[in-house]
Amino acid sequence: MERQFTKEIESLRLGDGETFHGEGILAVTKALLQSGVSYVGGYQGAPVSHLLDVMVQARDYLDELGVHVEACTSEASAAAMLGASINYPARGAVTWKSIVGTNVAADALSYLASAGVMGGTLIVLGEDYGEGGVVAQERSHAFAMKSLMWLLDPRPNLPTIVDMVERGFELSETSNTPVMMELRIRACHVRGSFPTRKNISPAVSTREKLEGPPKEFIYDRLAHPPATFRQEKLKNDVRLPAARKFIAEHRLNEIFPGEEQGLGIIVQGGLYNGLTFALKTLGLADAFGASRIPILALNVVYPLVPEEIVEFSRTKKAILVLEEGQPEFIEQEIATILRRADVPGKLHGKDCMHMAGDYNVEALVRGLAKFLAQHAPHLDTASGARWLESVKDSREKANQLLGALPVRPPTFCTGCPERPVFAAMKLVAQDIGRPHVSMDVGCHCFGSFEPFSQGNTLLGYGMSLASAAGVAPMSSRRPVAIMGDGGFWHNGLLSGVASNLMNKGDGVLVIMKNGYASATGTQELLSSPPEDARMVAIGQSAAHADRTIEDTLTGLGVKWLRTVNNYKVGEVAKVYKEAMKTDYKGLKVIVAEGECQLERQRRLKPFLSRQLSEGKRTVRVKYGVDEDTCTGDHSCIRLSGCPTLTVKDNPDPLRRDPVATVVDGCVGCGLCGENAHAAVLCPSFYRAEVIQNPNAWDRLVGRFL
Ligand code: SF4
Ligand code: SF4
Repeated sequence: MERQFTKEIESLRLGDGETFHGEGILAVTKALLQSGVSYVGGYQGAPVSHLLDVMVQARDYLDELGVHVEACTSEASAAAMLGASINYPARGAVTWKSIVGTNVAADALSYLASAGVMGGTLIVLGEDYGEGGVVAQERSHAFAMKSLMWLLDPRPNLPTIVDMVERGFELSETSNTPVMMELRIRACHVRGSFPTRKNISPAVSTREKLEGPPKEFIYDRLAHPPATFRQEKLKNDVRLPAARKFIAEHRLNEIFPGEEQGLGIIVQGGLYNGLTFALKTLGLADAFGASRIPILALNVVYPLVPEEIVEFSRTKKAILVLEEGQPEFIEQEIATILRRADVPGKLHGKDCMHMAGDYNVEALVRGLAKFLAQHAPHLDTASGARWLESVKDSREKANQLLGALPVRPPTFCTGCPERPVFAAMKLVAQDIGRPHVSMDVGCHCFGSFEPFSQGNTLLGYGMSLASAAGVAPMSSRRPVAIMGDGGFWHNGLLSGVASNLMNKGDGVLVIMKNGYASATGTQELLSSPPEDARMVAIGQSAAHADRTIEDTLTGLGVKWLRTVNNYKVGEVAKVYKEAMKTDYKGLKVIVAEGECQLERQRRLKPFLSRQLSEGKRTVRVKYGVDEDTCTGDHSCIRLSGCPTLTVKDNPDPLRRDPVATVVDGCVGCGLCGENAHAAVLCPSFYRAEVIQNPNAWDRLVGRFL
């Protein structure tokens, strides 16, 4: 991975009494070291990728501390890593994106939660829910409940987040239970500071090694019957009460008093900042967030502590529960707690707020206004009403001024090697008809947007080939599965390829071999090009330098296997058509090779600027469109979708259709020329070489051009 976290790594070394400045997710990284964590693992995914990226790059420093770091191949392997804390007093932390990652890790998590832990375990979840979320919209809360693992949801405030990491380990050890900590997108990226403490070298570590397995064999530490029956009882009878006691004694949940004693708001910690902003908008909180309505902020959303809920609610005539997402797990539990304790006040929640989706400030202002109108008509909330009115006006004004905005689908980076493959597939489909295409998670999902609009299903990471298994036998045309190399190693090799071979499937699998887990920040894979090959291949694709995918497929028994250069659209189309039409019955795999352009440009740009500053000859390729030849039918754009291939006004006053044009930013990937050739388009594209610091020969040639 080329992105460097040098500054962030320095801040990991801060000692007693210094101040950390930065993002929430990096504060978690520092807090793990302050807690004496022995090992860290995880699988990348926004919004928690940085945690692992920084740890991986800080390996030298972590070696000094004796902390082991592992970039796992999936969330399941990360969760299984926590097994180290079942028998040994070693603290461990893992991270991934949820809900998807938690789904993948579910098996190991169930067993871990059943066996229980001796060393504290913390699972840092990037809760990708609501605005900006890119995965299926579900909550991790259900997992915590069904496995009886504890779930922290800290207020987005760096000292609170850090405190919850440290307390989380203690809670885990006190109750012998794994603890999850959900961090929404805003909590991960909130900026702030906190006073640091010296990092603790763990008692069990790569430097302080264990002598061997526990001397005494304890059958109960295996999640295996009959131990599992006892473990289920232990969860409820011992671990849950221990957790509740710890949460109450250490006041992990926070009460913010307010003068309106008859009212109360119980809120998930992660929503606290939005709530105080909404209260301020309604004229019920000051600029520092001090609220007139008492608030119970749940930094621990599971388990709840019944005594805390009852104590906060007993004297109130109305309570509002703010819980994002469906169903209303917390609200239902609070209703049960209050009913059992005969607390008389009225309980509100989803009746004032919407059930599914993000609780942004606008939604919170509306919900609070509804609640207050019923129970506090004496409060002046006119400023909130005016604000809502102004939001509505702005929206209407924007609509009038802008009209219906053109759809702007997300797309591949400029020069992405995956774009030409979809162009080739589109060309072949014009010839032999559209097949069923099962997509996978990763950058290639952009192929489902215009201008390609390919993809009928998306069932999870590495699942594309497996999800075509049911379609293939019922389809007269071979289905096609698209998979990235990240998905291949994550789940696709076994769930897809092995299953297909075992069942003698007859489909086509296209593996995008771009060299990295690109969509999550270009993390390295088992098949990433080796470092020396990347340096040698500066300015060229380095993806071909590793053959692990091809060798693995051959070893597994794949007989029909072709590797293509993505940018050669005509060749890709030929091989793809052959795969679709061949008489060969069995899995056909096309390895589409082209290095991730994002990663390539990260390497290339500093190299080129160094060349330029040293006065060395530098050649940059650009493509362009001859506006006199362009017919204005835009078939090139429909085959490409490159952000730098666009339209401009026709310079010919006698022609009205805008002409195609290549704007600055073209990285000269060559797709324009290839498409024009493979699809027999008009001859308007030209290839230009921009030479900087030209030599004598260039100048001489230039005189004749
Ligand atoms: S990150 Fe890489 S693979 Fe993903 S769209 Fe950009 S260039 Fe393509
Ligand atoms: S050659 Fe064409 S497709 Fe490639 S970067 Fe330039 S404009 Fe985009």
